[in-house]
Amino acid sequence: MAEKIEFKTEVNKLLDIVINSLYSEKYIFLRELISNASDALDKLKYWKLTNPQLNVANSAYKITITPNKEEGTLIISDNGIGMDKDDLINHIGTIAKSGTAEFLQNTKENTSVVDLIGKFGVGFYSAFMVANKVEIITKKADSNEAYSWFSNGVDGFVIEKAERNENGTDIKLFLKDDAKDFTDTIYLRNIIHTYSEHIDYPIVLNLGEAGEETVNRAEALWTRNKADITEKQYRDFYQHTTKNSDDPWMRLHFKAEGSLEYSGLLFVPTKAPYDLFQPDRLTGIKLYVNRVFISDKVEGLMPMYLRFVRGIIDSHDLPLNISREMLQQSSLIAKIRQGTVSRIFKELKNKASDKENYAKFWNAFGIAFKEGIYEDFSNRETVAELSRFYSTKSSNELTSLDEYIERQGDKYKEIYYITGDDVKTLNCNPQLEAFRQHDIEVLLLTDPIDEFWTQTLISYKGHDLKHINQAKIDFDIKRDCQRANDKGLNELITNMNEWFNNEVSKVEITEKLTTSPAGLTVEEGQMSIHMERLMRNHQQKTAFDSTRILLLNPYHPLIIKLADLIFEKDNLDDVKNASMLILEQAKIAEGEAVSNPQLFNEKLSEFILKAI
Ligand code: ADP
Ligand code: MG
Repeated sequence: MAEKIEFKTEVNKLLDIVINSLYSEKYIFLRELISNASDALDKLKYWKLTNPQLNVANSAYKITITPNKEEGTLIISDNGIGMDKDDLINHIGTIAKSGTAEFLQNTKENTSVVDLIGKFGVGFYSAFMVANKVEIITKKADSNEAYSWFSNGVDGFVIEKAERNENGTDIKLFLKDDAKDFTDTIYLRNIIHTYSEHIDYPIVLNLGEAGEETVNRAEALWTRNKADITEKQYRDFYQHTTKNSDDPWMRLHFKAEGSLEYSGLLFVPTKAPYDLFQPDRLTGIKLYVNRVFISDKVEGLMPMYLRFVRGIIDSHDLPLNISREMLQQSSLIAKIRQGTVSRIFKELKNKASDKENYAKFWNAFGIAFKEGIYEDFSNRETVAELSRFYSTKSSNELTSLDEYIERQGDKYKEIYYITGDDVKTLNCNPQLEAFRQHDIEVLLLTDPIDEFWTQTLISYKGHDLKHINQAKIDFDIKRDCQRANDKGLNELITNMNEWFNNEVSKVEITEKLTTSPAGLTVEEGQMSIHMERLMRNHQQKTAFDSTRILLLNPYHPLIIKLADLIFEKDNLDDVKNASMLILEQAKIAEGEAVSNPQLFNEKLSEFILKAI
């Protein structure tokens, strides 16, 4: 009995985009269908290994492409795992993946649907780029029943019982008039060479009376000799396994020998993926055991902070029939991770000598990479060594901690940093004035993550890391101007403490400021102002703790003047208003918002008017 089923709304939307698209790269449908066939063969192989008692017989794994010029059809067949009725309904008629909404969103913004099709797990539908009707005949490996699925891509699909000798799947495409080229064997051979060369299984072109021809080498790329692999083959492999369209920024092809044997072909992409910071981020590594694909969801194969690394690892020592759950806990996995991570570090160190190129990597992945400083205790110093920062002496070009230490010389043993929202604002922070005058470099840290790792990495290669607030430097600043009178200064501080008791915990004198009248800081051991701001932005905190300290510069003419005026009753209002402006200025310099913009503007205008 034929059963007619409607497409879900999102499938309809997707098909609408695919069918009406005018992409010149229509051939990608073949890459997608061959990739599905290869997945189906992987699944059967794995299923047989983990269920040896079922003893399913099958002919040699292969993918067959059968063009028919007269009919205008193309069949892509595999003898893989196949699908039962539920699979057909759940995997072909519906888009289960959470990525669909994202796909549809992306197609609005980005014209390159081709890039997106594979990435979001909707590859099957690309068949409708070239076909106006698609028929699937499939039989699942452990079942006696075969089914057909038929659709014109518009009004749903029909499922019916069917006949098929062996397990596996045939996808028959009834080609559109402008896609009849895809029955041409020379053309087909070309596309397969270009896009599916590295597929592990033989891809066989069925030439009818002329027999069959295997088109690819059907050999896992990573098992081949490096010298025999071209750049292009590596790139195709990368693009196929990652579904990325960029070029790999870094490549690592290795074979570990000794007590543990495994090989790896790993890549760092050029562009960051859209989900780099999504909580359900998955590892990008596919695990094989002796060339059998096991899983691409093995946790622990790569540390979280290297989650952007893509590629494969093929182990020779893991038992083939190990369950995916067991894998997670295997100590072999931990050892493979350790070895692989140090290889990645080594290669990153090599690449770091080309500063300009390394900055590309850093800008794409640095924020994730820095997580390693607190996540990976044993490697924290190496992660820090490979990290890059901006600083007061290097605000246009990224610098390393080693370069910082070298520039600093012997005079100071500590590494100073300040945290804030952006390099430009930080660079103008009044707290840096004394450091500048003494030619002491300060790192300008602007990522939220910096607030965390700086709490963990207490010292780097023997140099303590210190927030500038904690720097115990005796700033013997040369002052050519006078200092505010002590009596007036004390009175000013007493008054300010009263006026601002809702805003700051206390007002103090500092010797560290040079050109600004005032600055803001926090009590030692308290959360930094930037950290508080981050938490407020994430609704973790509604107000700030009143632990802020307003620092006054007793050498600034404005403070000197206020200290002189404070005892004159007639001027008290002016002094109060000026003090308020000074506090708000200090906040602005910190990257904070003015607490009462209207009042602030009013008073400011008043003062400007008096001055001109
Ligand atoms: P993806 O391959 O990313 O999962 P596709 O749209 O290409 O997305 O395929 C959807 C699903 O359809 C697959 O996950 C698989 O379950 C099923 N499928 C497609 N082609 C085959 C096939 N040749 N054999 C078995 N299952 C298949
Ligand atoms: Mg697919």
